[in-house]
Amino acid sequence: MHEMAIVQSVLDIAFSEAEKHSSRKVSKIKLRIGELSGVVSDSIEFAFEVLRQGTLAEEAALEIEPVPLRVVCRTCGPAETLAGDLALICKNCGSGLEIVSGREMKVEYIDLD
Ligand SMILES: [Zn+2]
Repeated sequence: MHEMAIVQSVLDIAFSEAEKHSSRKVSKIKLRIGELSGVVSDSIEFAFEVLRQGTLAEEAALEIEPVPLRVVCRTCGPAETLAGDLALICKNCGSGLEIVSGREMKVEYIDLD
């Protein structure tokens, strides 16, 4: 499962942060997950429940902030897309749209105790 690997690498980041600050507990992890990243929040939460057992992050809270898809047309500027419409063509002029956000999956912050 793709999400297991993602959560494991997030936890690895959290553990090395904890080590750096001589902390023995991770209290919160916040992630930003783009609508178009292909990462499923429910699967992330499930993987987190499993992988945090017996670790420094055992009691950590996990917060996931969804990042909506935002696009821009080089000719017309900020453009609209409908959810689920992945053609990414400007309705105004027909040129290809550029993705500004919504494809990312990143760690926003990690709180240590
Ligand atoms: Zn346009």
